[in-house]
Parts: sequence; structure tokens; C-alpha cells
Amino acid sequence: MPWTQILERAVALSASCRHEGEVADYIPALADVAPDQFGIAVATLDGSIHSAQDSQTRFSIQSISKVFLLTLAYHAYGESLWTRVGQSPSTNPFNSLIELELERGIPRNPFLNPGALAVTDALLSRHTHLESAMVAVMRELAGNPDINYDSDVFDSELRCASRHHATAHLMQSHGNFSNEVGEVVRAYCASCAIEASCVELARAGLFLANGGRDPQGGRQLLSAQQAQRVCALMLTTGTYENSGMTAFAIGLPTKSGVGGGVLAVLPGRGTICAWSPRLGASGNSVRAMKALELISNAAGLSVFA
Ligand code: GLU
Repeated sequence: MPWTQILERAVALSASCRHEGEVADYIPALADVAPDQFGIAVATLDGSIHSAQDSQTRFSIQSISKVFLLTLAYHAYGESLWTRVGQSPSTNPFNSLIELELERGIPRNPFLNPGALAVTDALLSRHTHLESAMVAVMRELAGNPDINYDSDVFDSELRCASRHHATAHLMQSHGNFSNEVGEVVRAYCASCAIEASCVELARAGLFLANGGRDPQGGRQLLSAQQAQRVCALMLTTGTYENSGMTAFAIGLPTKSGVGGGVLAVLPGRGTICAWSPRLGASGNSVRAMKALELISNAAGLSVFA
């Protein structure tokens, strides 16, 4: 079946859940987003883009930024990064501190908030202007020099960042933190506040489907093995405590964010990015996850197929 038809079908069939879930409001600026928007884009390694609905509308990428933070840190530190953060799933919510204390300040994985803060701390030791480095890499990979972070969302998250500070201080008390906590939290919030559309994010993720090399600009961001490992972490931990169900229903490496975006990798073929702001209980977009499930099943895309 051609992509256009697959997407049309997913748009139609996922419409039944378009009013399910709630927009994230714990970051006040995210609560202002029109809740019923929906976009989807497929990018393939030959350079084609197929998209539908609000696929050009920019949204807050939030935790999808953790994939790009991890990429920069893995590139910079190689396997030694794993002394700071683990590779195991968690059944606790993304911002929980429970395991962090029990496991002596080593976060379970880089897609939990503690893990992403540890990764950001590692990166800040290498980049004085990490916010600019993150925006620059997103511009390069998405192929659009306009990409930036939204200062309202950034300010809004920073104003209610006590838990981020607590997380960072807890890691510091266990000796797993090097930089000034406030600076790391700022860089982390700025990365989460980057805005991109489904088309831009699908393009930006293509290196993960292509052995770590950006097929457009040609830059090798990760080795082939590192790209496989990032995909393995996306499959096992990328959609919070629902990751097992995601592997079951969709069967693709996937990373979601509380802005409602979900980026999925089709190894060796391309990427899909779906977006709809209403979230289910674990913080994943209800309609975007549904659309990905429909597409993966219709086109036989599961990595286990
Ligand atoms: N900036 C959000 C936070 O740290 C990201 C959460 C998410 O998208 O999972 O709480």
C-alpha cells in the first residue's frame, strides 16, 4: 500500500480517539495548546516525505529532545557515558525520584528525567553554550534554520522546576553530578522547549534509521552500533512505563514527549513522527500512539516482522 493511503487510513481510523486524554498542564504554557490538533509525517532514507493534517505545525518537542541530548553525549563520551546512567526500563513515572535514591544516584535510563539531567550535566562539561548547540543540531538535522526554543515554554517550566532541582541535587549528593545545578536545569528546560513540526522531527531522526549518519547532510552523529543501541533504549524505555505495551502494539523504537509528539524509527527505512496534544495517563499522546499502531500494523513495520 502506498504511504499516502496508509496515512489517510490512519488519520481516519484514529479520529475516534481525538477527544481522549488531556493536554499536559503541569508546565502551564503547554496547557494553552489547541488540544485537538493532529499531524503525521513519514520521512524515508531516499529523501521522500509523506505527511497529513497538521504535519507542518510546530509543537514543543519536550522529551523527544532526550534522544538528541543522548546522541550528543554518546558521541562525546562513547561507552563511558554508561557509568553515569543505566540502560534498564523503569515502571515508575518519568519524573520519579524513588529509584534514584535506592540505586545510589545512577538513573535507570537516559529517557527518564533523572537520566536526561545526568546526560545534560555530562554535556555541559563539554559545551559552554549547550542550549545553542542543541538548537544548532536540530536546525542541521531538520534542515531548517528557523528552529528555536520557545521562551514562554522555557520560562514556564523553569518557574516550576523544583523537582528537576531536587533530582539534580540528589544525584549530586551521590557524586553523580559535576556542574552547577541551576545551569544544568536551564539547559535541560531549553532543550525540552525546542519547537519542531512532525515533518522536521521525522527528518531530524533519520540518522537513527541510517546507521548513525544523517542521510541529508552526511554527518556521522553516532557509530552504527551506537545508533542501534539508542534505538534499543527507545524501544525498551522511550514511552515511559508504557514501553512494553508500545513494543507489543507498535513494535518500533519510539520516543514520546508531553507536548504530544512521538518519534518512531523504522530501522533501515526511515522515521515517522505523529503529534496530537492530548495525553493518556502515562504522558503519551493518545491519538499519535493510536495512529502509529495502525500504520505499523497495516504496513507490517514492526522490527520483529
Ligand atoms: N520537560 C518535561 C519534564 O521534564 C519533559 C517531560 C516529557 O516530555 O516526558 O517534565
